[in-house]
Amino acid sequence: MKFKSIVTICLLSSCFAPTRSIQAQANGAKNELNPKFSMKSKTQFTTVEANPAADENPLLVEWKGAFGGTPLFDRVKVADFKPALEAAMAENLSEIERIANNSAAPTFENTIAAMERSGQTLNRVTAVYGVWSSAMSNPEFQTVEREMGPKLAAFSDKITQNEALFRRIEAVYNSPAKTKLTPEQQRLTWLYYTNFVRAGARLKPDAKTRLSQINQQLAGLFTRFSQNQLADESEQFLVLKTEAELAGLPQSLRDAAAEVATAKKMPGAWVISNTRSSVDPFLTYSDRRELREKAWRMFVNRGDNGDAHDNNAIITEILQLRAERAKLLGYQTHAHWRLDDKMAKTPERTMELMEAVWKPAAARVREEVADMQKLADKETAKIKIEPWDYRYYAEKVRKERYDLDQNEVKPYLQLEKLREGMFWVAGELFNFSFAQVTNVPVYHPDVRVWEVKDKTTGKHIGLWYFDPFAREGKSSGAWMNAYRNQERVDKNVTTIVSNNSNFVKGKPGEPVLISWDDATTLFHEFGHALHGLASNVKYPSLSGTSVATDYVEFPSQILERWVSTPEVLQKFAVHYQTGKPIPQILVDRIERASTFNQGFATVEYLASALVDMKMHLAGSQKIDADAFERKTLAELGMPGEIVMRHRTPQFGHVFSGDGYSAGYYSYIWSDVISADAYDAFVEAGGPYDKAVAERLRKNIFSVGNTIDPADAYRAFRGRDPKIEALMKKRGFPVNGKKQAKPAPAKIVVMPRQTN
Ligand SMILES: [Zn+2]
Repeated sequence: MKFKSIVTICLLSSCFAPTRSIQAQANGAKNELNPKFSMKSKTQFTTVEANPAADENPLLVEWKGAFGGTPLFDRVKVADFKPALEAAMAENLSEIERIANNSAAPTFENTIAAMERSGQTLNRVTAVYGVWSSAMSNPEFQTVEREMGPKLAAFSDKITQNEALFRRIEAVYNSPAKTKLTPEQQRLTWLYYTNFVRAGARLKPDAKTRLSQINQQLAGLFTRFSQNQLADESEQFLVLKTEAELAGLPQSLRDAAAEVATAKKMPGAWVISNTRSSVDPFLTYSDRRELREKAWRMFVNRGDNGDAHDNNAIITEILQLRAERAKLLGYQTHAHWRLDDKMAKTPERTMELMEAVWKPAAARVREEVADMQKLADKETAKIKIEPWDYRYYAEKVRKERYDLDQNEVKPYLQLEKLREGMFWVAGELFNFSFAQVTNVPVYHPDVRVWEVKDKTTGKHIGLWYFDPFAREGKSSGAWMNAYRNQERVDKNVTTIVSNNSNFVKGKPGEPVLISWDDATTLFHEFGHALHGLASNVKYPSLSGTSVATDYVEFPSQILERWVSTPEVLQKFAVHYQTGKPIPQILVDRIERASTFNQGFATVEYLASALVDMKMHLAGSQKIDADAFERKTLAELGMPGEIVMRHRTPQFGHVFSGDGYSAGYYSYIWSDVISADAYDAFVEAGGPYDKAVAERLRKNIFSVGNTIDPADAYRAFRGRDPKIEALMKKRGFPVNGKKQAKPAPAKIVVMPRQTN
């Protein structure tokens, strides 16, 4: 069934991959396995065992071998995907027909639990399909994806539009017998019912028709929006022709720019692409102010140039269609519809949080600008700080004030040592042990696998696959996914999770050294993996990371905090040549720099999040995006030295799909929770406090979506999350009081972009 886990969780700070995550949801990708379920599967299994040659399509067979079976990665051929997906979808649809047309009266077991048992084959196929999509892509596979994407989406629609099925789900949901179900069963019934209703299952036929029309129209507009954005990002660029125009740029940036120029058949020149990864470093380092302004204008005007790639009219249309759809579904606005099944529940609560953080963040910006202006005046630059100066002067202030050089930190951060550090932390917090295994198939020689066990009892918990290195065909950024979710509908099924990143592989025998930011990312993704591994639920749809999108980053964000604990630094942040732990003086400098430039980071993020929410609260009025953006920012008191992180004509999170629409607030929402939760450890005596760790495991990491996240958090913390810990972490005044120190001792989080 479709309401199972999001197969891929991206670290959004480095990787925004709406296509992948939304695709994964649309695919109904989920990864449970229950070999008991289908007689057909059983027979198939026996056949394969008896005669491997008869096994025509390896994607369709049961996973075999130790650990409850593992994906047959070594036997995958791209040509097998299409027939496997088609066969698995057909099988799942016939299972669903059987459930929908059952002559027996609807019960939890014959309807909801039966849905949970369905789709085993499709789960296995889409798990492997997801791996190829994110980590093993090539033109041959992309052709398959283009063809199968719409087919998988249509498949999902067929299920939510199955009226007989919905009537049974509704009957179970409204039955007095529901109160006799376990709390987890009641929650699952609620989830099925809510998801069907949210998708329009209760609408009259003509409204349903209109809903599909709207969805199809929106899908077309989303594609046009992202193609316009992509066109401006690839067709516009800044050409630098002389050495003098490179003033201030570090060698790595010059080399990259020269490579782009060569690829564009401009050998001897340098090209700055119109993307964040090129423009941000250029704005940070270029000494040539007029070129900075040029690059900045090019970047912030993507999709807003009044030409064939202009996105403004598309935005107006998207907003109107969304407003109409929300009304059709019985909601006041699109924002109310989106928030209804999130932890925040209402747009008003997110606005309250964002407005509370906005004021101190904007005040901090004024201080940051004053510092930068002072420095510029000292240099007799004779300028007033403008948006294209912010990153440049912020970098100068950072160097002057904190004397922190990434290259000094790196020799202490060895990838493999930090991986051992993560395992050690998981042992302390969750009592897990890790042992590498070599007897399971992998899809690439770089991938390694560890078995996770309970340290005390030796009980098997699951498998952790690690795919750390960049290569062609692999998406950028870092992410976690689950090949199989923990569940025990009919028998114990253990989970298989993976962590993926894009470190540059070193020479054989040489350690891979990573940055502090990368180390934090490594722990972040491992937090998602632990969320999957610690899962202890009955039903796969509620398992592991299958939680609300404004809650799912909490377990990962909180795990970031253990990187900088003295225990990890002393044992695992050791110099790759001398073996000595990272010196305290360097740690102190990292710590002091942790709240630097948070005014800028917070304001540029919040401006986007607030405009996103306000646009989706505005109802069905015809919105001129540019005018709306200007008016909203003026009302907020947006500092003139900063522009929104994503201006509306290039706000792919919000307009290239529904995924993050009225949802960009999620990053700060979960950051509030993770900061508050970490404080529970600080208050109790440290990051390794056993009692707090046990509460975290019991109420957060193990429960998946079996209870409402707000209730789960209250059970962990004894109260709702408070905003103070976030303010402290970002170095903002708490209750109007300025902090004496930018961050509490022993808590080190480098300034990072949240999105
Ligand atoms: Zn994440």
